[in-house]
Amino acid sequence: MTVNPDVIIIGAGAGGPVIAKELGEMGIRVLILEAGAWYGNKKWPEPNQNRGWARESSDPKDLDGTLFRKQVTRRENDMNDVVTGKFCFGPADRRRSPWYRKLPNPGLLWANGGVGGTTLHYWGNSPRAISYRFDEGWPISYDELIPYYEKVEATLPVEFAPVTSKEALFFYGAKEAGFSLNDTLDVTSPGYRPQPNAILPPNERLMDENYSLEEISHMEGCTLSGHCENGCPYGPSLDKMAKRATNVSYVPLAMKTGNVSIRPNSFAIKILTELDENGHERAVGVQCRDTWTREIEEINAKAVVMAAGPMETPRLWLNSELSHNPWVGRGLTNHHLETVTGHFDEKTLMDIIGSPTADPFVGHTSGARLDYPGLGMISKETWNVIEEVLVFLS
Ligand SMILES: Cc1cc2nc3c(=O)[nH]c(=O)nc-3n(C[C@H](O)[C@H](O)[C@H](O)COP(=O)(O)OP(=O)(O)OC[C@H]3O[C@@H](n4cnc5c(N)ncnc54)[C@H](O)[C@@H]3O)c2cc1C
Repeated sequence: MTVNPDVIIIGAGAGGPVIAKELGEMGIRVLILEAGAWYGNKKWPEPNQNRGWARESSDPKDLDGTLFRKQVTRRENDMNDVVTGKFCFGPADRRRSPWYRKLPNPGLLWANGGVGGTTLHYWGNSPRAISYRFDEGWPISYDELIPYYEKVEATLPVEFAPVTSKEALFFYGAKEAGFSLNDTLDVTSPGYRPQPNAILPPNERLMDENYSLEEISHMEGCTLSGHCENGCPYGPSLDKMAKRATNVSYVPLAMKTGNVSIRPNSFAIKILTELDENGHERAVGVQCRDTWTREIEEINAKAVVMAAGPMETPRLWLNSELSHNPWVGRGLTNHHLETVTGHFDEKTLMDIIGSPTADPFVGHTSGARLDYPGLGMISKETWNVIEEVLVFLS
């Protein structure tokens, strides 16, 4: 398949597989080059050990949920350690040094590698943007975007998160602080709401004692067991896993079109260009490096889509010395994080939520939010290593 695809997409993260599925459905032949490994694909049974396995995969039958389950653990460091973690942005061969990123100022540049990209690790939060931001010079309006939101929300799918103890506590704090429920996907005023998450609704048999937790974890639906950030492996098959990272949602859909092939362990190092008859620079292919053998190869295509993430896409643009584009380096937003941690005695919790504990690890990692258009948002988040319950103190 690799021989002269119509389109090369760089990066199999949140964006790349979505574009691949849409193009594949139009009959356009696509090759995705992904720098990281592929977990949950029979062609790479041990993705962090090179044994001369295949170069690429295009058959949805290669996808294997049982294998993914074996490769993903609930241990934070196994998956997310910034040097050795399976999901960290770096070589699949973890004996090699990490791909160095120099930051001019203190901060954390957190992006993952592998088929699924940063969605392997993300929490599934899928809120729409605040509409008025689009009046500030974006090349697309909010109204134009809505049909695309609707399509992606239906495909993933996106649902409002179920309310467990910690969300109930968050909502209590928000209500006491004078906010009300924002029962909408299109937020225009301050208010709290369950997170719209790309996570399947809870398994209907979750409280049925006739089923063991092990049996339930092989069925369709969220188990409310937390650990969304470690790559949720619960579901009957890879494409039915509860957290809808792109490796379990858009990647299988793209492969099912029969027109999309994905090549992991392939780091794009240069966009190849030529001048057309009008003297305009045009992309004609990609130079990439095999991250195991370090062999360098050039692959031609009629178009190239750069979906390598907010840092790597501009870096690749600049390294390739492509013509000046005023959008390179613009539009980047960061997360300025501040955390509030609350301690509650049992009696207070009993009065508020009817339970002596907030059960921070039950439910979605991030299942509640309060939006304040113009200021930002507060969300309830639980990590394996940090327990955070963000509340408004009235
Ligand atoms: C801890 C955490 C939690 C998050 N939670 C949420 C959330 O709940 N909701 C939300 O909307 N967002 C969340 N995000 C952010 C979200 O995951 C990213 O905004 C999104 O994944 C970006 O999509 P992308 O396709 O641009 O890049 P990525 O998803 O990062 O994908 C880029 C891919 O390109 C590959 N790549 C990079 N360079 C090259 C190269 N040169 N050649 C080939 N491949 C390359 C990478 O390996 C990667 O797989 C979270 C992020 C983090 C770190």
